[in-house]
Amino acid sequence: MDLTNFRFEIDADGIATATWDMPDRSMNVITVAVMDELDAILQRVVSDEGIKGCVIASAKNDFSGGADLTMLQGLRDLFVKLSGERGEEEAMRVFFEESRRLSLLYRRIETAGKPFVAAVHGICLGGAFELALACHRRVLCDHDRTKVGLPEIKVGLFPGAGGTQRVARLMQTGDALQMLFKGQQIKGLMARNMGLVHEVVPHDKLIETAKDYIRQGGKAVAPWDEKGFKLPSNKVYSAAGMQIWPAANAIYRRETNDNYPAAKAILQSVYEGLQLPMDLALRVESRYFAKILRSPEAAAMIRTLFVSMGELNKGARRPASAPKTNLKKIGVVGAGFMGAGVAYVSAAAGFEVVLVDRDMEAAEKGKAYSQKLMSDQVMKGRAKGADRDALLALITPSASYADLSGCDLVIEAVFEDPKVKAQVIAEVEAAVGERAIFGSNTSTLPISGLAKASARPERFIGIHFFSPVEKMMLVEIIMGEKTGEEALATALDFVRAIKKTPIVVNDARGFFANRCVGAYILEGHKMLTEGVPPAMIENAGKAAGMPVGPLSLNDEVALDLALKIVKATKAQLGEGAVDPAQEALLVAMVETEGRLGRKNRKGFYDYPEGGKKRLWPGLSDLVKAPRLGETIDFEELQERLLIAQALEAARTVEEGVITDPREADVGSILGFGFAPFTGGALSYIDMMGAKTFVEKAERLAEIHGPRFAPPQLLRDMAARGETFYGRAKTKAA
Ligand code: NAD
Repeated sequence: MDLTNFRFEIDADGIATATWDMPDRSMNVITVAVMDELDAILQRVVSDEGIKGCVIASAKNDFSGGADLTMLQGLRDLFVKLSGERGEEEAMRVFFEESRRLSLLYRRIETAGKPFVAAVHGICLGGAFELALACHRRVLCDHDRTKVGLPEIKVGLFPGAGGTQRVARLMQTGDALQMLFKGQQIKGLMARNMGLVHEVVPHDKLIETAKDYIRQGGKAVAPWDEKGFKLPSNKVYSAAGMQIWPAANAIYRRETNDNYPAAKAILQSVYEGLQLPMDLALRVESRYFAKILRSPEAAAMIRTLFVSMGELNKGARRPASAPKTNLKKIGVVGAGFMGAGVAYVSAAAGFEVVLVDRDMEAAEKGKAYSQKLMSDQVMKGRAKGADRDALLALITPSASYADLSGCDLVIEAVFEDPKVKAQVIAEVEAAVGERAIFGSNTSTLPISGLAKASARPERFIGIHFFSPVEKMMLVEIIMGEKTGEEALATALDFVRAIKKTPIVVNDARGFFANRCVGAYILEGHKMLTEGVPPAMIENAGKAAGMPVGPLSLNDEVALDLALKIVKATKAQLGEGAVDPAQEALLVAMVETEGRLGRKNRKGFYDYPEGGKKRLWPGLSDLVKAPRLGETIDFEELQERLLIAQALEAARTVEEGVITDPREADVGSILGFGFAPFTGGALSYIDMMGAKTFVEKAERLAEIHGPRFAPPQLLRDMAARGETFYGRAKTKAA
């Protein structure tokens, strides 16, 4: 056998071990070559009478991350190419056969007649866990790192190599559906309790335990291929089944608003598959898989949430010429809400942190935030007391700028006031060495303006976190006019070290994310003032795919902050720059009613102590002419909410704030949860085509005003039939 991705050995007992160890890759993934080699291994095991069975293991730190998604992307491209060359029917036939190759291979392993055992340590996800599921026995290492799961749904796919069918035959249907919908990673003992794996053993016993199964004559038949097999939740058409399926449908609708074709395909695949014998069930699953693989949603989600995010995380925007940085000590000035979070994530990445505020009490309070976060983790069993102590030991609270000496990077998160910031910049620069980089976490003040207070503007950059810092995965890096490459490289290296995803944007009012979020919130406010029932606005946001409605989001951000931004915009750019209806609404809410949002338990919602939030009944009094829900086009509300944001994203491209579509897409999903099934705010436009988008925007502009007028860039793109990604490719070529 000619193998490059596996080692194949046979021991004295006739037990084969196929050890997966791909050259030049830190993680095993399923590629065409891996499929070919697994096939060859299978044939050898079956045909060699001296071999009793086979253990499949890995020589890496992990078992495998699953299928190479770029291979799946390639399959989709093949379909497009074949459709053009040989017609859609022939293209579909080839595509179907190719896309089910892995499924058929796994089924052949399952029915080979000799036992196969998966010996799993580390991560074992997606197609790799489907391989394990097709083995007759699954043995897991008891190490914390070992996790199994089927996360395909997170990139708009679903497990198409038997996952939906085998999981649904191992677990109660409700549990199986939940596992498939959530795509979560499951640790060893939990996986055993769920019935997904058979044994959990120490690492040094893993291979021997796996071999023991074969040595002791373990079965080479899957439970569902044995006579008399009963489904864990009984038949679909049974009294038990009737308890499950109507509810499953309802939960699917509630959770997805029917926006995710892959989630629907899971439901259909399990529902239909459970009524069929395994081979037919797998064929049904393959049909749905081929359909989903061709869906624009899967293509957009794979591109943004896997390919682009991976590229940005690995430093796609890092200037190649900038030397490697060696960050050790980080300064954080301002130990308030944001600074405390920045200190925590920095210490969690192993940096030494000096946390400075105006007095020791404030600095200590900032550090206490880390204490609280770590203590919560200890309580939940996710960290040990020693981890908490080690992290806290890295944070030094201080009221003296002198303690910042030796810092490689200082991030300020003091009050959003240019005068305060200017003072802080001067004091920090006097305390740190010439080579230190200064990052500002301002959310609204232009970086080039703030950099005027710096003696070293080329070492000055925006590092904009989102709240809560420890949870939000995006960091916006803002280039001022004079920001240099070393500052950019340092900021990107820092973001990488704290395991967040960076996007690099050019300086402009609101940068990228807050501009788009602002458009979403403005649209919610406008709807409210038009008399649209508040619950309908909120539901339109969620139905469009946003994580929360615009009113709810404004409550989280704070209404007084929104009013402050409106007033500042008006003061700087004039009357025409703000919407009078929005301003009047915010003035009424904040100044007349004293409703500031969640922070004072009174915003568009009421937040009763210990109870669930509910829309404030007083909202109807604020609106002069409430309209009846029946008279309102719900789909138009949804479109308005997404189009308003996408238009703003397109404007940032036109203005040169965003220079790479990957950043707008990744930034919009990670930063403000822009309907993930679209692949992000620009992919949303690309997916429907600039022409259709422009037509829709123009129609909305006629009804609702010039904020919907498409920018010239989009009109040009519509005329030329261009996409954002197509333009980026042309530019790069
Ligand atoms: P905050 O009021 O909670 O914290 C500000 C802290 O800065 C306070 O602890 C204050 O004592 C300290 N401070 C003020 N002047 C100082 C000085 N001269 N020296 C040292 N410390 C000083 O504010 P926050 O919400 O954490 O916001 C801080 C910055 O982060 C602002 O620029 C804000 O725009 C930005 N930001 C906030 C959010 C958010 O959601 N709150 C999100 C992104 C960015």
